[in-house]
Amino acid sequence: MLTDLKPQAADKILMLIEEYKADTRQGKIDLGVGVYRNPEGVTPVMRAVKTAEQRIWEAQTTKAYTGLAGEPEFRNAMAQMVLGEVPSDRLASLATVGGTGAVRQALELARLANPGVTVHVSDPTWPNHLSIMKFMGLPFVEYRYFDNDSRGVAFEAMKEDIARAGKGDVVLLHGCCHNPTGANLTAEQWEEVAAILEKSGAVPLIDLAYQGFGDGLDADAAATRLLATRLPEVLIAASCSKNFGIYRERTGILMALAENNSARDLSQGSLAFLNRQTYSFPPDHGARIVSTILTDEGLRADWASELEDVRNGMLALREQLASELRDLSGSDRFDFIARHRGMFSRLGATPEQVSKLKTDAAIYMVGDSRLNIAGLNRDTVPVLARAIIDAGI
Ligand code: PMP
Repeated sequence: MLTDLKPQAADKILMLIEEYKADTRQGKIDLGVGVYRNPEGVTPVMRAVKTAEQRIWEAQTTKAYTGLAGEPEFRNAMAQMVLGEVPSDRLASLATVGGTGAVRQALELARLANPGVTVHVSDPTWPNHLSIMKFMGLPFVEYRYFDNDSRGVAFEAMKEDIARAGKGDVVLLHGCCHNPTGANLTAEQWEEVAAILEKSGAVPLIDLAYQGFGDGLDADAAATRLLATRLPEVLIAASCSKNFGIYRERTGILMALAENNSARDLSQGSLAFLNRQTYSFPPDHGARIVSTILTDEGLRADWASELEDVRNGMLALREQLASELRDLSGSDRFDFIARHRGMFSRLGATPEQVSKLKTDAAIYMVGDSRLNIAGLNRDTVPVLARAIIDAGI
């Protein structure tokens, strides 16, 4: 049996990590992998997370199973963080294995509800969206998103494409900090998206993996909150990996906003069913860290302030890089880097230019020219700026 297996395509980012590790050059720079790093190159455990873990260790008396949908305390705290006002008469929710698990279960839920569902997804998007849908055999079409000239959103094209999604289809949107481009919609543009979906009856699936990494915890949730109030049905897949820095704890949540409380109950039952079929109970440790932090005023304030430092650090690096490139290029054509939000920016370089950065300057980024801003620090920004100009980007 096992001899019949076919080799699976290797993950490009993981391959890049291996290549980077094997590079013996001094001063090599890794802008590939999608985790936050502080200026020392470390992905730290946040202060509030450490304290929460200590408290959990001291207070926890059992490791018996949680609920199939996870602990209500975690789900309520997350709903509050994401939605602000929680419409409990409409909200079903599920603790999941990271944001990836939430995306997967959201797609499973959509297919359970509508076996003929087509998913509309931005071009480009997080590659795992595509590979999960391919693996599930779920039909999807791409909508135009990135304008390679301005490195902003090609909004007219996007509108035209998402208007093609029919009733009961799913439109997958990045709630903030678009991965891989860094280009995001304005508040006015989100209003227009809401109006299009309102008209068509297509259901948004909002992937919210970077709340707090763009313009702040509330600002980054504004688009999600807008759609949640305007539309009868909304799916939200949120990850706690980045904003709590608990990547390996695999903590995420899927929220399904239904039209009324009977559809909510149906959704809640289906969500628990999906966890049961996939892995039974969701992991608890990360979820408990999150609820411990969010329900304690002091811990929450400390976490939010550390998260703000992370966010502002990345913004400062964006400003510095845009400014260095303005000086070196004598133009403002790299100012989009300061306008982008989140951990990533797509430079809009060719694969040859990306490969030149690697060969000539030992700078590693993903082949589509996505760079992780958090892989930089004050000292490496000028090195990258110089290399970008030298590579003819
Ligand atoms: N969605 C997007 C757009 C992401 O970038 C990520 C993380 N790379 C995820 C979802 C899932 O994150 P995780 O499963 O690690 O929580």
